[in-house]
Amino acid sequence: MQTSATNTFPCSICGLGMAVEIPAFRAFHRVTSDCRPWPSGGRLGVCNDCGGVQKPADAVFLREIDDIYSTYAIYHQGKGAEQAVFEQGSGLPVSRSSRLMETFRSHWDISKMGRMLDVGCGNGAMLRAFGHVAPAWTLAGTELNDKYRREVEAIPQTEPLHVCPVDRILGTFNVITMVHVLEHIIHPVEFLASLLPKLSHGGVVLIEVPHYLENPFELLIADHRSHFTAATLSLALQKAGYEVVIVATDWIAKELSVIARVAPDDRNAASEPTVAAAGKSVQREIEGTLDWLNLAVEAARDLSRGTRIGLFGTSIAGTWLCSEIADGVGFFVDEDSNRIGATHMNRPVLSPQQLPPNTTVFVGLPPAIAAGVCQRLGTQDVKYCPPPA
Ligand SMILES: [Zn+2]
Repeated sequence: MQTSATNTFPCSICGLGMAVEIPAFRAFHRVTSDCRPWPSGGRLGVCNDCGGVQKPADAVFLREIDDIYSTYAIYHQGKGAEQAVFEQGSGLPVSRSSRLMETFRSHWDISKMGRMLDVGCGNGAMLRAFGHVAPAWTLAGTELNDKYRREVEAIPQTEPLHVCPVDRILGTFNVITMVHVLEHIIHPVEFLASLLPKLSHGGVVLIEVPHYLENPFELLIADHRSHFTAATLSLALQKAGYEVVIVATDWIAKELSVIARVAPDDRNAASEPTVAAAGKSVQREIEGTLDWLNLAVEAARDLSRGTRIGLFGTSIAGTWLCSEIADGVGFFVDEDSNRIGATHMNRPVLSPQQLPPNTTVFVGLPPAIAAGVCQRLGTQDVKYCPPPA
């Protein structure tokens, strides 16, 4: 039997409170951040002080992320092409990095010359997008291994790939970007602090993380250590010695975008960051979110009685729903041309135009986004069903 003490762990965001485990989470199947099914049994907690949602970095978590990263396949459903984000109105796809750069430059004046670093650059999607907007800049990327060295170094103006901690790279940078990296970091505040000496005078960090408040499926990602909100990400940055310039929820759907710079020297103890004790209310919110995820599975399972349904999307939600419903799922539906024609979890990935008549497709997306998809794609022959609101 476990005592209550084993069900709390120190908060990695505020460093003051204790995260209290939400027991229901252990029963959920999980998904890796590269969209592979992962078994249930994970732990999720909410800090009783700052409300930070997080996984404990215990021995099991560390072993699991080791397993996940040793076989990591970036964007494997799209054969290496970056995931598209879809314009809400038109449904047209654009790459996430291009969208991010367009918005970044409307908020921060990119000078003619400079040097930028992309931490966790993967196969170079962000470096490519940055170079497109700032062709005279010197670009640099870091990664944990050499896997994409050739692809990264083929990008114009790019330094040899840095396979080392950021503090070992010589010189400083005008912009440091981290796109879907911080949520993986074991000690996010210490990591952010370690980047400060690498920023040039006037330099900024641009951080992109998933936003679970808009995308509850994100909580199911086994290798995400932190699940940030605007408040807890701002807190982590302030704790690390930054001043937040802008934190936005509307640059990219379901993501948080932040620009931050070195906090001014005159910051004193009186301005030490605090957040209103949010722990209890966030714990209740997370329990409600897990209940909603269970309702979504039930809704999809009901639709699959007597017929094999399709799942819309081959990312986190689609992968997770397929693990939960298993035999009731016959195929996936995706609008991303890089994914159509492939298989995912041994099922074909079809375009909306390829669906036979009398099919049902469950749209495992947050209700507001799902409603738009159902309205846009539903026909007399093909029924698209959203999750419960
Ligand atoms: Zn905390």
